Amino acid sequence: APAHIEETDATANALGYKHDATKVDGKKFAGYAAGHVCSNCQLYQGAASDPWGACAIMGGKQVNAKGWCSAWAKKA
Ligand code: SF4
Repeated sequence: APAHIEETDATANALGYKHDATKVDGKKFAGYAAGHVCSNCQLYQGAASDPWGACAIMGGKQVNAKGWCSAWAKKA
């Protein structure tokens, strides 16, 4: 399986990615709303029940199901 992304990765940092969405800086990333997490983002490639899943925006590395970044978009 692909590696887990680091929060310090350049892309992750630029997009405000956190492994734990509740740790997102809501002042800096005003688009964040409670309940928005990687597992319900359309870019999440894991199954809904997987703790980690690949994300294309993060170079295919795995992101936490409970994470978030500013590229979040509601899964259709
Ligand atoms: Fe998570 Fe979606 Fe951001 Fe990828 S694009 S890190 S799945 S919120």
